[in-house]
Amino acid sequence: MSCLICENPFARTLCAGVGQEFHCPECGQGRISQELLSLMMLLNLQLDIGRSRQWLKERRQTDPLPIMRVSDILLCCAAKDATGPATGAEG
Ligand SMILES: [Zn+2]
Repeated sequence: MSCLICENPFARTLCAGVGQEFHCPECGQGRISQELLSLMMLLNLQLDIGRSRQWLKERRQTDPLPIMRVSDILLCCAAKDATGPATGAEG
C-alpha cells in the first residue's frame, strides 16, 4: 500500500493493531490511529503533506514511532480529488 500521507508507492504500510503503521522514504515513519483513519474517510479528508511531515519530524525527536490521533485532525485538509460514487452533480 502506498504512503498514507503522500501516496508514495515505495512506502511500506502495515497493520499496527492501533491503526496503520507506515514507513515512507519521504515522510519517514509513524502511525495513524484507526479512529483518525475512519474519521478521515467519513469526512473526506486527507493528511496535509507539509504539516504532517513537520509534525512527524518534531515528534520523532522524542518518539521514534509517533502516532497521529483524532486530536491531530488539524493535520488534515479536504481531499482534493474525491473519487466517491458519481452523483452527476457536476456540470
Ligand atoms: Zn509519504
